[in-house]
Amino acid sequence: MSKFAWVTLTTNDTYSLGALVLAHSLKRAKTAHQLAVLVTPNVSQAMRDRLKEVYNVVQEVNVLDSQDAANLALLSRPELGVTFTKLHCWRLVQFEKCVFLDADTLFFADWSTADIKKHLPFVYNVTAYASYCYLPAFKQFRDKIKILHFAGKLKPWLIQFNSETKVASVSSEYAHAQDLIQLWWNIFCENVIQSLS
Ligand code: UDP
Ligand code: MN
Repeated sequence: MSKFAWVTLTTNDTYSLGALVLAHSLKRAKTAHQLAVLVTPNVSQAMRDRLKEVYNVVQEVNVLDSQDAANLALLSRPELGVTFTKLHCWRLVQFEKCVFLDADTLFFADWSTADIKKHLPFVYNVTAYASYCYLPAFKQFRDKIKILHFAGKLKPWLIQFNSETKVASVSSEYAHAQDLIQLWWNIFCENVIQSLS
């Protein structure tokens, strides 16, 4: 078994939906490595059971809070103090190498052929919700994305989704990312939803 792991974090049942889709997107990209998720006490037992179906390691950790209200207010994201909990990743010493991915990312194939030894190029952390000056690069590298990150408040699981047509309704502001948001929902519908019902 691989000594390397992809690691993510979830502190509640909502971010866990992101973690489930992330695990399936890594499997779709045929990763050879192990999957590990850090969970905090707030994550329900039912959700941990779902996570165990796709993650090799479901590790409970205590919440670490940056307590940096001033800077979080600058981001308008007061809830992100708990993201310090990511630091527990360093304690997964059973692995030789870990790559931490946010629970709001998706992963695309061809990872193994790319050189990430020296730096992380644009295509390794493409932000779905681009500001206008970012759009030219987004368009240029659209077909070469390795990791897509839904950074920002509007997570794919919060976007309106029609369960009959299976189409996500994306406002015009995010129209350039419509197909990527739809991809998140496709993975959710094809791989995750049945394990939740
Ligand atoms: N996270 C979490 N619970 C929270 C907020 C964040 O588990 O309430 C974790 C989750 O893995 C998430 C990461 O911390 O992907 C970073 O937060 P987020 O992705 O919301 O930040 P952004 O990418 O929008 O800056
Ligand atoms: Mn994120």
